Amino acid sequence: GSTIGVIGGGQLGRMLAIAAANLGYRTAIYAPEASGPAAEVAWRWIQGGYDDAAAVAAFAASVDVLTYEFENVPVAPLEALNPMPHPRALAVAQDRAAEKAFVEGLGGRPAPWAVVDDRARLDAALAKIGAPAILKTRRFGYDGKGQARLKNEGDADAAWATIGEQPAVLEGFVRFDREFSLLIARGQDGAIAMWDPVLNRHDDGILALSIVPAGIAPDTVKQAEALARAIVEALDYVGVLAIEFFDTHEGPVFNEMAPRVHNSGHWTIEGAVTSQFENHIRAICGLPLGSTALAAPRVEMRNLIGAQADEWPTILADPAAHLHLYGKGQGRPGRKMGHVTKLVF
Ligand code: ATP
Ligand code: MG
Ligand code: MG
Repeated sequence: GSTIGVIGGGQLGRMLAIAAANLGYRTAIYAPEASGPAAEVAWRWIQGGYDDAAAVAAFAASVDVLTYEFENVPVAPLEALNPMPHPRALAVAQDRAAEKAFVEGLGGRPAPWAVVDDRARLDAALAKIGAPAILKTRRFGYDGKGQARLKNEGDADAAWATIGEQPAVLEGFVRFDREFSLLIARGQDGAIAMWDPVLNRHDDGILALSIVPAGIAPDTVKQAEALARAIVEALDYVGVLAIEFFDTHEGPVFNEMAPRVHNSGHWTIEGAVTSQFENHIRAICGLPLGSTALAAPRVEMRNLIGAQADEWPTILADPAAHLHLYGKGQGRPGRKMGHVTKLVF
C-alpha cells in the first residue's frame, strides 16, 4: 500500500511520517485535535474522536496500512480493522494489572504487586507488599501522572485521594541501580531486531536523558532480551515495542511496556543504522527490517522539556548536535518541545 494511516498526531506520529516519507509512503493522521506535531509532515489530517467507531472505520478504509502512536486508543473500535500491532497488544498494555499478569505468565518479573480496586483493598495490598510502595492507576497513567508514593501505612488515605480513588495497582518500591529500556521490532514474517539497551534518567517522572551504551550487565541484558522476544511472540506483534526495566542486582525487573515507538528510542534516528521509526514502518508494510547496529560508540539523547525557542541557537552552537523540534508553539512546563541527539566518537 502507499498510504499509512496513523492514529494519533503527536511527535511520535510526526517522526513516523518522516520515516514513512523516506520509504516512499504518504501518511494520513487520525486524531481528536484539529492539528498537532504530525500535521506539518502528514499528507492528510482527519479530525475525529478515538471512540467514534464509524469515523475510525472510515479512516481505516481510506488507508492501506493502519497503525497507532498513542497507547490509550480505545481497543473496541480497532478490533475489526487489522491495525498493526494487533490491538491485543493495546489491551494488555493499557491495564497495568493485565500487563503484569501477562509478563509473569511469560516468566518475567515485575515488582511485587497487588490489585487495588477500592480503598479497603489498599490496606490489604499494603499488608501483603509492605512499604515503601507506589500506587498507580491501572489505566491512563503517563509521565508519572496517576501515581502516589507511600512511605508507610499512614500514607494510604492521601495516596488513594491523590490518584482520584480509581482502580489501581500497588507496587513494591524497587531499589534499582538504574533504569533502562529495550526497543524491539518484529516484522510480519516474524523476524526480530533489537537495539542496544538504553539507559534512561527521569526528572519528575518525565524522561530527561537517554544514553547508549547503558552499562547493564550482560546477563541482565540477556534476560531482558529473552523476555522482550517472548512478549512479541506471544502477542504475534508487528511493529516496534518498548519495554522499561529496572536494573537490579537480581536481574531485570519489568516496569511497563508501550506497544508503539517510544521516547527512549529517539536516539536511534542518528544513533543507529536504522531508526525505531523506520523499522516500525518497514515492519507494518511487510518490508525487511533494517540493521539496529550503533552508528557511534556512544549516543546521548536529551529531551527539551518546557524549553523555549531562544535556547535553540545555544543548542545548535554545538556542531555535533542534532536538534529535533516538534513544532509545538509554547514551552509550557513539562511539555516535550523536542530533543537533541549527540553521537560521541
Ligand atoms: P511513562 O511516561 O514512562 O509511561 P508512567 O506514568 O507510566 O510513565 P512509570 O514508568 O510506571 O510511569 O513510573 C515512572 C517512574 O517512576 C519510573 O520510570 C521510575 O523512575 C519510578 N518508578 C515507577 N515504579 C517504580 C517502582 N515500583 N519502584 C521504584 N521506582 C518506580
Ligand atoms: Mg507508562
Ligand atoms: Mg514508564
